[in-house]
Amino acid sequence: MYGEPKKVCTWIIDEVNNAYAVDKQDWRDLMYLADEKRYEKDGFRRCGDSGLLLSKLSLGLWHNFGDTSSYGNMKKMCETAFDNGITHFDLANNYGPEPGSAEINFGKILKDDFMPYRDEMIISTKAGYDMWPGPYGNWGSRKYLIASLDQSLKRMGLDYVDIFYHHRPDPETPLEETMGALAQIVRSGKALYVGLSNYPGDLMKEASAILDSYHVPFIINQNRYNIFDRTIEKNGLKETCRILKKGIICFSPLAQGLLTGRYLNGIPEDSRISRDGRFLKESSLTDEVLSKIRALNDLAGRRGEELSRMALSWLLQDELITSVIIGASKPEQIIENLKAMESSKLTDIELAEIDAIVGTEE
Ligand code: NDP
Repeated sequence: MYGEPKKVCTWIIDEVNNAYAVDKQDWRDLMYLADEKRYEKDGFRRCGDSGLLLSKLSLGLWHNFGDTSSYGNMKKMCETAFDNGITHFDLANNYGPEPGSAEINFGKILKDDFMPYRDEMIISTKAGYDMWPGPYGNWGSRKYLIASLDQSLKRMGLDYVDIFYHHRPDPETPLEETMGALAQIVRSGKALYVGLSNYPGDLMKEASAILDSYHVPFIINQNRYNIFDRTIEKNGLKETCRILKKGIICFSPLAQGLLTGRYLNGIPEDSRISRDGRFLKESSLTDEVLSKIRALNDLAGRRGEELSRMALSWLLQDELITSVIIGASKPEQIIENLKAMESSKLTDIELAEIDAIVGTEE
């Protein structure tokens, strides 16, 4: 009379209202369910003095999300990131190839996987580099910024982005015009916060004053920063962010893969230099660079970790850094890079050794 207990199941309803009972494993095969433990690590930092917390690692979609990459792999990378507490996904209008295709592919990933999680995600995009022909598809005019964000939202299938950046300074458009466009974008509800990318300290300070006068939530600066590239220490950006209490998010933290073990024994076929080469060229791998990579790799080895992990923890131990945007070509790299959050602090002696290897006094 009391036969076998019934298997606990979940009901799903398809697009034409048929209901199916599935067990949890079948359910996972049908649709993405985020890992329930994704918020268990201490993985967030406040962005300047704003109300926004960003995951210490963010995922960037500059490479490996365009039309020449596998959709399955890029979807898996986004799932791996989100399952491990990475809530911030960084895009730009021109990411591809073709320009715009990373936003289209990410829009598909959002639709396939993440729409139930939209409010748990920070999605950013940018405009500032060459995007479409003619004088209105580049730099920093009001015309370009407003039209570009409208296009980005359509490509991603979103009503708004969380952060919209001006991607690079425009020496010919008045700063008031560019900042005025950012202000209008926030007022129109198409972005919640704004950021500036590739601005030096003095220009950022000027822009910040204009944005303050418009009561625009300008909270973050996105600049290249890694063991090799110390520009923001020299151009006033880092110090101005400290004084104005603005966030800093670093791009190319691994120098596009140079600060890893990837190129220690030649150029692998599946590496960025071999597969892409638009921005990281074989000519970057000079004997001098390779000998620095080898010396850094030895130091990481003495610490018992991979060079990539040491390079990321070098950034993460700096409290002025809100988040570090990693790029990846495979999900396993994301898993490896997350370990940097658990690295022991680099000692003063190790920090000095790193500086001596890369020659920061130049
Ligand atoms: P990284 O310096 O982190 O380089 C990423 C590359 O390094 C990967 O594609 C992979 O290369 C390699 N890599 C990553 N992890 C590992 C690992 N654990 N072991 C070995 N190799 C590894 O960052 P990106 O240069 O990709 O930049 C990150 C993001 O920053 C971009 O996606 C974008 O969002 C943003 N950005 C912003 C810019 C701006 O002007 N605002 C400019 C540039 C980037 P491989 O393919 O060889 O496997």
